[in-house]
Amino acid sequence: MPSLDSNIEYLKGVGPQRADALRTELGIFTCRDLLFHFPFRYIDRTQFHRIKEIHEDGAQVQIRGILRRLETLGEGRAKRLTATLRDDTGIMELVWFKGIQWLEKSLTVGKEYVVFGRVSEFNGRFNIAHPEMEPVEAETAKDGPAVRLDPVYPTTDRLTQRGLDARGIRKLVRTLLDTLPASEIQETLPDYMLELYRLAPRAWALHKIHFPEQQKELDTATRRLKFEELFFLQLRLLQIRTRRRETVRGFVFGQIGDFFNQFYQHKLPFELTGAQKRVLKEIRVDLASGRQMNRLVQGDVGSGKTVVALMTMLMALDNGFQACLMAPTEILAQQHFTGISELVGDLGVNVGYLSGSVKGKKREKVLAELASGDMHIVIGTHALIEDWVQFKNLGLCVIDEQHRFGVEQRAKLWAKNPAGAPHVLVMTATPIPRTLAMTLYGDLDVSVIDELPPGRKPITTMHKTEHHRLRVQGFMRSEMDKGRQVYVVYPMIEETETMDLQNLMSGYEALSRDFPPPTFQISIVHGKMKAADKDYEMQRFLKKETQIMVATTVIEVGVNVPNASVMVIENAERFGLSQLHQLRGRVGRGADQSYCILMTSYKLSAEGRERIQTMVQTTDGFVIAEADLRLRGPGNIEGTQQSGMLRFLLADLARDGQILAAARDIAAQILEKDPALAAPEHQRLRQQLTADSREARVWSRIS
Ligand code: ADP
Ligand code: MG
Repeated sequence: MPSLDSNIEYLKGVGPQRADALRTELGIFTCRDLLFHFPFRYIDRTQFHRIKEIHEDGAQVQIRGILRRLETLGEGRAKRLTATLRDDTGIMELVWFKGIQWLEKSLTVGKEYVVFGRVSEFNGRFNIAHPEMEPVEAETAKDGPAVRLDPVYPTTDRLTQRGLDARGIRKLVRTLLDTLPASEIQETLPDYMLELYRLAPRAWALHKIHFPEQQKELDTATRRLKFEELFFLQLRLLQIRTRRRETVRGFVFGQIGDFFNQFYQHKLPFELTGAQKRVLKEIRVDLASGRQMNRLVQGDVGSGKTVVALMTMLMALDNGFQACLMAPTEILAQQHFTGISELVGDLGVNVGYLSGSVKGKKREKVLAELASGDMHIVIGTHALIEDWVQFKNLGLCVIDEQHRFGVEQRAKLWAKNPAGAPHVLVMTATPIPRTLAMTLYGDLDVSVIDELPPGRKPITTMHKTEHHRLRVQGFMRSEMDKGRQVYVVYPMIEETETMDLQNLMSGYEALSRDFPPPTFQISIVHGKMKAADKDYEMQRFLKKETQIMVATTVIEVGVNVPNASVMVIENAERFGLSQLHQLRGRVGRGADQSYCILMTSYKLSAEGRERIQTMVQTTDGFVIAEADLRLRGPGNIEGTQQSGMLRFLLADLARDGQILAAARDIAAQILEKDPALAAPEHQRLRQQLTADSREARVWSRIS
């Protein structure tokens, strides 16, 4: 009898060759892995489209019919396999461009098939390319009693050739579920949780996710398993936070002193917004608590995060500590350095700058002052966390615009002060949907600056195509005549870099012709330039020596030129929503009405059009983030690509917000009452967490 841990090879119907293919193709090593290889869709045996009634290009259809003809056409690259399927109402063309040999052997003319795929219109006729094919009679004859919903499993060409097509895998799962002793599938959630949230028992859910008899059963099973998945992730994240709170001592910034007060009374050039005040209070509570702060401040572009960061750093100084501010790019770091130096003025704060490009004597001086404690605040790039940077007494680190600042980097930071872990404040202008934030930053506390400084006019966003080029130029000219400045941004994607660079350069040349010197001066900044050259160009633009800044997304983050009032984004359809939002945030920072012009080609994909429309309709970063999540899925949201945390078996952060919120709620309640999960009713949770971490260790050894 199989157990969950037994090697998949020994499951009846597998054997060494199939086991090998299952391992390499799908990562299925054990029976447990197979049990958790869930179907990606189900065939509803009662729902078939009639060929005559298929009218829509791009529709997903399931039809049932007899295979009438099978024919290989063309040579070489044009080689394809075509077939005709006939039902009572008409015929449908099927076509394959790959795996032809195998298909020729496995498909039989005259047999009845269930065919699933997406129809496309071609020369006024419909066909289906690369449909899933399943013989009808084999299905009901071999797989036991007929069920209404048949699972369809992910598979690959290589597995298919070993007889493990979707149907072959279905047979294996059936065998597994029929022979697995009932005691193998243990409940992981306490009974009171099952009752409270009306969750199905785990064993039932794991059976029904594979072989549901009706949609309702499938829904119930799916909900239970999603809940479990999200709940244990939240439980682990919150446990990390609880443990850190208990074990990592934080420096106590007990007093508000001269630096802070002097700044607040004499230097702060404006009244803080209500949101800024609230967030500063939240930070202040953290800093005085004796626990190490790990706080994320989310605030839309222009919401005024910098001054919040500065005032937090001043709190550190008032308590005898040093502070650092780390930015992702040299340009941004330098702008912070200039801006903050100006803001503190003659307060007597020694602010320094450090990056990889600060060398020789200059670097030595900064390093010496940091080590002696003479330098209060250092602003810079990633260089700040390198080992050669030593502080006398680092108490706070502010990290600006960094999603990729992971646990590892934070650990490096902690090592910077042997006396304890510095407080960490992470700031981001990329609003992250709540569900994502709860997961990605589940171990952080979150503050939101949800209010813009007064007097800002909402940016007007327009969508234009090549037809409007002349008018767009006229508009740029009229804005520049009023003394304003203009950004023109081009996409630069690594994979298409050479093409993009050409594009950027020819755009620059065209602009130079349309806006010639001496009346107009144009800056250009892109990622291939040396840091010093970039900085020179950026400075010229800042000082208004140039009116147009042609750039790639290197200017995306944080850069502040209040006099710039127009942002033209070329090939806007190639940018993601959050990137577009970030770019748009570069303008609208002054008192003038600002504009964002999205240039695209005339033809757009449906998704591209929706992105552009979203931008035109709203300037609310959170609305945009939600749309981004919906359109592209969580794995593609800016800065989250590498996060293994977002790889779920079933849960979908774009849709399962409610389940996630409930799961996080109960996880927090449980840890509040029973932090060690020592209560008898939490024994299952304890066991599951141990099993999980055991599995995680095995995995890290494998990969
Ligand atoms: P971001 O949150 O994008 O980092 P910044 O901190 O760069 O925003 O602030 C954008 C601009 O708004 C800066 O010029 C800053 O001086 C100004 N600003 C910040 N807070 C206020 C406020 N409360 N009132 C008026 N202007 C403010
Ligand atoms: Mg900023």
